[in-house]
Amino acid sequence: MPTSSHLRQVAVLGATGSIGTSTLDVIARHPGQMRASVLAAGNNVDALIALCRTHRPDHAVIADPTLFARLREGLAEAGLSIQAHAGHDAIDALAASDHCDTVVAAIVGAAGLSSTLAAARAGKRLLLANKEALVLAGELLTRQAAAAGADIIPIDSEHNAIFQCLRSRDASLEAGVRRIILTASGGPFRGRSRSDLEAVTPAQAVAHPKWSMGPKISVDSATLMNKGLEVIEAHHLFNVPGSRIDVLVHPQSLVHSLVEFIDGSTLAQMGLPDMRTTLAVGLGWPQRIESGVSGLDLLSHGRLDFEAPDLEAFPCLRLAWQAMDAGGSAPAILNAANEVAVSAFLQGRIGFLSIPALVEHTLSTLPHVAADTLDALLAADDQARHITQTAIARLPHA
Ligand code: NAD
Ligand code: MG
Repeated sequence: MPTSSHLRQVAVLGATGSIGTSTLDVIARHPGQMRASVLAAGNNVDALIALCRTHRPDHAVIADPTLFARLREGLAEAGLSIQAHAGHDAIDALAASDHCDTVVAAIVGAAGLSSTLAAARAGKRLLLANKEALVLAGELLTRQAAAAGADIIPIDSEHNAIFQCLRSRDASLEAGVRRIILTASGGPFRGRSRSDLEAVTPAQAVAHPKWSMGPKISVDSATLMNKGLEVIEAHHLFNVPGSRIDVLVHPQSLVHSLVEFIDGSTLAQMGLPDMRTTLAVGLGWPQRIESGVSGLDLLSHGRLDFEAPDLEAFPCLRLAWQAMDAGGSAPAILNAANEVAVSAFLQGRIGFLSIPALVEHTLSTLPHVAADTLDALLAADDQARHITQTAIARLPHA
């Protein structure tokens, strides 16, 4: 627990992204209790240097090794005595080191897996935003975290909501829970039919109505793959079978998820759609700390609506459910195919409806196998990426 005698030392991995900057905003509100000691980013070296000027960590890491000299020189020019590092191994080593006690895993995609695992193995408090790590290697990650005594606090808003609701009963996990209900905003294309989705552009897909997020998760929200990944995420985090996880579309994004208990009680967590709330839960837990987010004025919002997801127009949610039921390497294949397809869509190389088509193609082409080792999962990830790339190259307009 952070007190004035113990300053929480936080490694922010993915510091330049949407979650990373929200994290730094919350940390800066509590200078006596916590500080950012390590900042890591992918390749936006100028943004990383700018964050170093403001937040003064001890270490800064850029994943792209060709940018090391620029980082080191940029820090020196700014007169900062911050140690510069480069490469994924450096991120993993710092995440597991004594330079931090808390790790915010906010790198996007499977690229965040090794540092998330490193933090779990080192027994850190793990604020987990990188849902792809859980989809790819959920069993491994939760097992290693438990063995090392690492507390995982989910940062994804739905899972953070469930985490909070579950604290209302005796802690022995799962007991008393009837089902988990994940809410979904429905994304920018809620209510559209499949044929309406044919020609939507990347700019339309990333314009999320309620949340401001990085491009990959914004496209995932538009396809509903994000909710599919979150069903798998919830399964691993809360040890609940898929048959007891439901999805409810709630366009206002004020109810972040719900837990139904066996006595008929349903608890929900509510708040404005601002990730600083979930990050404050993770950074302060079990204390409540200021996040900069104001409370909910329900009167001004007026109403809360709920509807069933449209699996016809948005097949990614169905595909994720199928991959979770299949188990083994299937979720890793789903995740990898989706990452490749979303990246091609964002580059304007494929249409929106090709995303679910490619994921389905890769899932049906590559047989899933039992996969309880990291090597087997990474091999499935690699093969799935290859199959998806090949299929994209064969598409008419690619
Ligand atoms: P983003 O694109 O805004 O930021 C991604 C960060 O990861 C950047 O700092 C980037 O430099 C870094 N990065 C990218 N590739 C890297 C690599 N190979 N090595 C090291 N660093 C790399 O993304 P985001 O919206 O902040 O999302 C981050 C994660 O959090 C994702 O897994 C996403 O699903 C999850 N998440 C985000 C939100 C949200 O509101 N943004 C909500 C829930 C979950
Ligand atoms: Mg979410």
